Amino acid sequence: MAKVLDSKIPAGPVPEKWKEYKAHQRLVNPKNKLKLDVIVVGTGLAGASAAASLGEMGFNVINLCIQDSPRRAHSIAAQGGINAAKCYQNDGDSVYRLFYDTVKGGDYRAREANVYRLAEVSNNIIDQCVAQGVPFAREYGGMLANRSFGGAQVSRTFYAKGQTGQQLLLGAYSSLSCQVKAGKVKLYTRYEMEDVVIVDGRARGIIAKNLVTGKLERFSANAVVIATGGYGNTYFLSTNAMGCNCTAAVQCYRKGAFFANPSYVQIHPTCIPVHGDKQSKLTLMSESLRNDGRIWVPKKIEDAKALQAGTKQGWEIPEEDRDYYLERRYPAFGNLVPRDVASRAAKERCDKGFGVNNTGLAVFLDFSESINRLGIDVIMQRYGNLFEMYEEITDVFPGDVANEINGVKYYKPMMIYPAIHYTMGGIWVDYELQTTIPGLFAIGECNFSDHGANRLGASALMQGLADGYFVLPYTIQNYLADQAVWPKVSTDLPEFDAAEKAVDAELDRLLNIKGKRSVDSIHKELGHIMWEYVGMGRTAEGLKTGLKKMHELEKEFDTNLFVPGTKEGLNVELDKAIHLRDFFTMGQLVAFDALSRNESCGGHFREEYQTEEGEAKRDDENYFYVGCWEYKGKGVEPELSKEPLEYEAIKVQTRNYKN
Ligand SMILES: Cc1cc2nc3c(=O)[nH]c(=O)nc-3n(C[C@H](O)[C@H](O)[C@H](O)COP(=O)(O)OP(=O)(O)OC[C@H]3O[C@@H](n4cnc5c(N)ncnc54)[C@H](O)[C@@H]3O)c2cc1C
Repeated sequence: MAKVLDSKIPAGPVPEKWKEYKAHQRLVNPKNKLKLDVIVVGTGLAGASAAASLGEMGFNVINLCIQDSPRRAHSIAAQGGINAAKCYQNDGDSVYRLFYDTVKGGDYRAREANVYRLAEVSNNIIDQCVAQGVPFAREYGGMLANRSFGGAQVSRTFYAKGQTGQQLLLGAYSSLSCQVKAGKVKLYTRYEMEDVVIVDGRARGIIAKNLVTGKLERFSANAVVIATGGYGNTYFLSTNAMGCNCTAAVQCYRKGAFFANPSYVQIHPTCIPVHGDKQSKLTLMSESLRNDGRIWVPKKIEDAKALQAGTKQGWEIPEEDRDYYLERRYPAFGNLVPRDVASRAAKERCDKGFGVNNTGLAVFLDFSESINRLGIDVIMQRYGNLFEMYEEITDVFPGDVANEINGVKYYKPMMIYPAIHYTMGGIWVDYELQTTIPGLFAIGECNFSDHGANRLGASALMQGLADGYFVLPYTIQNYLADQAVWPKVSTDLPEFDAAEKAVDAELDRLLNIKGKRSVDSIHKELGHIMWEYVGMGRTAEGLKTGLKKMHELEKEFDTNLFVPGTKEGLNVELDKAIHLRDFFTMGQLVAFDALSRNESCGGHFREEYQTEEGEAKRDDENYFYVGCWEYKGKGVEPELSKEPLEYEAIKVQTRNYKN
């Protein structure tokens, strides 16, 4: 039976909700008074900021990550920046405007109250990070600098060259280290959570694998927080770090946590195109490049064919023969339309034969105009490390002048194509970031909370740090207030025994299949199925085929997998096999959700539901809800519950980036 979900949003008009909420905290500043333990799984921006804040507030925190240092969490990959409504540019920005842009960018599928809270705390994040010493870019006069990201007509993105995530993570890590030194946070690196332990219906601990010794260990606490990132690697090729996985989230889902909106997967328009079948990773070229880079394909099909054949180069095509298709189709936002819109537009051009590389699956991102206008030094100051990264991978330096036509200099353009990048779906959480399992919280990319069907650029770091520094430390107290009189449960309880035995049995099962195929070969095949049938353009028929193929491949995984080595000691292949087992569950979940949502919205594009101009066609009458899935067993269709969306402050309308 589908359940009714309580989002716990306090009553009252949206802008008042968070204030009212804070006023109702029941357990304020427990510093040194209460002995309450919290497990935080993950040390990315969400996990590290939450662990540091909870430690500072006086909780005893157990913090785990799979890397050898918290500083190596996937969050360091974030390049472009972090949004906040400071309005330093005097361009009319405000908390309301950031709130509005985020809801609109998410194609009106986000929970309105959560997004308002996010916009409201965005400014605190910048202050917090500046205080930690994060070296944000500054103007000549000392003010923090800003640039623009997609879906906004103001400049509100704070950045540290092209390495914003790394600098923010170093800030969070220094706070975390203070708490480690103070004895409030105990850090476990190279540990992977394999299961959540439920005692009397509440999350009371986890089973984790020491990735170096291979031993399973038990941890108990008064609450468990997962901050374990997204599930983009289900598609095998993505911009996510190789280690990103959804094991913790999927295991929570198997144990009863609902999974929300899994079909909302973000495909980023500016990635280096796939160049062969030996590739295991795709590289993002930051969205910030769209501030100064212009996206185009040739106007003439014969030019496109010559580019594909390698008989012509992009810089030989003069200005009048270039189709800046985003500027043409979306004059108001131009190259800065949101990612889902830009990705679909690139696909549309390539599908029509205008792709510019040998596979026909690429478009140009060109800096000629901005270098001619601003000079190469300014462009290098803004994007130097991204240009160098592009050169290292492709051997083309986008700052090299290559041609001059009628006195205009043409520089070597980048080639880009959409790739899997971010997952808006995630574990369902209420307004307090608590999942459907009491005592289990989810923050950062692994929850579904704030981005609706499409995330705007530079908003993931904002959400992760909002959750970690400013939301969870307040909201978790409502749960912990009732726990203050509860002793921490013993890890000798039968529930811990059973969970550990089940994990151990799974490790044995995977090792004993002793088939012929490597984890990567099966994962790559899963990725192909996902991209082909559950990717940028989906149809009911394709999704059904995809599900069938996934079931068949999962059988192959269960019967013909080969994992070398043993459970004892380091066994990376075994760890990857566990991740792949969970990518199968996730892939099917994405397909089920996509199949059930007979509309197009944001990153979920069902080809049957599009306007004449090829834009996503929503169906608010029937699909204005959060789709929340409940696990019903392996190979069994999960059950859908719905959280209806309620909008008070924003009028729900069709997105328009044209004028
Ligand atoms: C190339 C790239 C560039 C990006 N640029 C930007 C940008 O400019 N601006 C922006 O806002 N966003 C950007 N993003 C998105 C953003 O980086 C991520 O959404 C965000 O960093 C996720 O943070 P997180 O803390 O939720 O998860 P992560 O940073 O993924 O951290 C997950 C943590 O969980 C741990 N973990 C995972 N599984 C387990 C387990 N089972 N047991 C124990 N620990 C586990 C990991 O060790 C890690 O510590 C970018 C993403 C990519 C891929």
